[in-house]
Amino acid sequence: MSRLMRINTREKTFTFEEPSKELASLGGRALTSRIVLKEVPPTCHPLSKENKLIIAPGLLSGTAAANSGRISVGAKSPLTGGIKESNSGGLASQKLSKLGIKAIVLEDKPEDGGFSLIVINKDTVEILPADEYAGLGNKEIMKRLWQKYGKRRGVISIGPAGEQRLTAASIHFADPNGRPGRAAGRGGLGAVMGSKGIKAIVIDDTGTGKIPLVDPEAFKKANQRWVEILRSHPVTSQALPAYGTAVLINILNEAGGLPTKNFRAGRFEHAQAISGEHMAELIEARGGKTKEGCHPGCVIQCSNVYCDGEGKVLTSGFEYETIWAMGANTTIKELDDVARLDALCDDIGLDTIETGCALAVAMDGGLLPWGDGKAAIDLVKKVATGDPIGKIIGNGAAFTGRALGVDRIPVVKGQGLPAYDPRAVKGVGVTYCTSPMGADHTAGYAVAPNILKVGGDVDPLRKEGNVDVSKNLQVATAAVDSTGLCLFVAFAVLDTEDGVQTIVDLLNAQYGLSLTPTDVVNLGISILKDEREFNTKAGFTKAHDRLPDFFKEPLPPHNTTWDLTDDELQQAVQYS
Ligand code: SF4
Repeated sequence: MSRLMRINTREKTFTFEEPSKELASLGGRALTSRIVLKEVPPTCHPLSKENKLIIAPGLLSGTAAANSGRISVGAKSPLTGGIKESNSGGLASQKLSKLGIKAIVLEDKPEDGGFSLIVINKDTVEILPADEYAGLGNKEIMKRLWQKYGKRRGVISIGPAGEQRLTAASIHFADPNGRPGRAAGRGGLGAVMGSKGIKAIVIDDTGTGKIPLVDPEAFKKANQRWVEILRSHPVTSQALPAYGTAVLINILNEAGGLPTKNFRAGRFEHAQAISGEHMAELIEARGGKTKEGCHPGCVIQCSNVYCDGEGKVLTSGFEYETIWAMGANTTIKELDDVARLDALCDDIGLDTIETGCALAVAMDGGLLPWGDGKAAIDLVKKVATGDPIGKIIGNGAAFTGRALGVDRIPVVKGQGLPAYDPRAVKGVGVTYCTSPMGADHTAGYAVAPNILKVGGDVDPLRKEGNVDVSKNLQVATAAVDSTGLCLFVAFAVLDTEDGVQTIVDLLNAQYGLSLTPTDVVNLGISILKDEREFNTKAGFTKAHDRLPDFFKEPLPPHNTTWDLTDDELQQAVQYS
């Protein structure tokens, strides 16, 4: 049976423990959120010794199930003050599962302010001084750790933003090429890792065998069907591999839902210049890669490698949300500048959505001109050096707004809004308001039925039907986040009759269970209940489930406003 590994970051000691019956059947987000609810005092300071950082592979991670190598990171968030689960690709999830580690739980807090490196392999766990790595960016530390411990090791690290405990700090995961382009970005969890004094974790699964499967034949059969489902849907087999998630720039712009100039309009006049189609052309011409998996076994491959004009790698994992955050949102139209900002955020360890929102708020506050990519790059570089202006940006949009006296701050529960204007994509607006995570598109991706017409067709400009859409997707997402499956599988699952059943078949074959799709729904509901319980105990009320008032302004081109009432929104969090 997989075990929990607890690390006392003050004493620099570790223990392994058998999970309780309550935790034994949980993985990924279900596990991180349950441990946070049971073990973290809801009113504690997120950077105090009472908080815990939990890193948990999904239930299917480490098996041959396609797209099952995602990992969940959970804690009380220093950005929102509520519970947080942030999800990432990279190599760590599959390796932890193969080592029989159900979760790493970082506890307590060092008193000396120094940093440690944790090295985990089949036979030993070492907690070593990491002074030689302190201050390094994620790119360099991953390079050095691969040089020292071997290529293709799992590496989890923080950059200077996490070391400074800034609330937009992310945690990075080495991808199959040792690049830091994969991140648990949202909610400032890099600051929690920094507060625990952990600079990096190296995971070496050399010598481990295959994950035990109760019914290998049934698993193989279910996985064949699973791959078939993913390879036959147009979004997962064509659009995402060809253009990456940036295919959404033109789609959202056309729909009038691409937030532009700090959420003043739904269309950006230079959308084409930052589009996925243009990005793919540049990648092709410059010798990058349009298709890459963030972990072995991904059959969708939405990731990429983007080079500059000289063919030198600028960034990897260049995604829609980042391109929007640094592009349309700030009106920067040069894709190379946007790519440089992405690379800087990956290296410094910053959430690109939060940083893009902070930059736009800073532009509103007159700190730098609209659309000035070079000024934005200079500003983000200041986060790494500890400059006071850099600390402001590195603490996210709400903090930047307060520091600069700006009243147009696009956050819910303190977290910056992602790349879909809630007035033109109302289903995702309901998710922003009511997710326990704060504004988070991944928590209930209603863009699918609103804009892409996947899994249904609900008018994005009217409120009717969108509460139910968001509620159902939030439940399904919480469950998917527990399996280790990448969220993009949802496009194919929602449109395929036996999609959910096939995931259930994989779980049943691996663990010898007899789950039904209803059990999966119930799992999703129980996770959301855990998360809302934590937030309620931390002091959240329905007053926190709201968008800022400026979303009552009409949004061009459709001139729709945010018109859902508090009572209507609360229906999204009523579970029978
Ligand atoms: S589809 Fe994209 S995000 Fe999902 S597992 Fe593959 S590379 Fe990672």
